[in-house]
Amino acid sequence: MWEFYEATESTAKCKLCKKVLKRSKGCTSNLLAHMQRDHRVEHQTMKDNEERRKAEVEQDQQVRSTSHVSNRLSNNLSLIL
Ligand SMILES: [Zn+2]
Repeated sequence: MWEFYEATESTAKCKLCKKVLKRSKGCTSNLLAHMQRDHRVEHQTMKDNEERRKAEVEQDQQVRSTSHVSNRLSNNLSLIL
């Protein structure tokens, strides 16, 4: 979400509407709330991107574990043959 904000130590400036928001250290909930309220489309896009990234990682892990299993299988097969 930091692609939408310019952060300083205690504030974050929204790049979309140039509004400066206060933020407590490490807390981004009011920044998210601002996006949800004022930039619904961008907020949705951000969430979609995050979900897609997560799905890709999961897919990647699945592929890896599947190829691991098939490696083991072919090892076993070569033992039998
Ligand atoms: Zn804004």
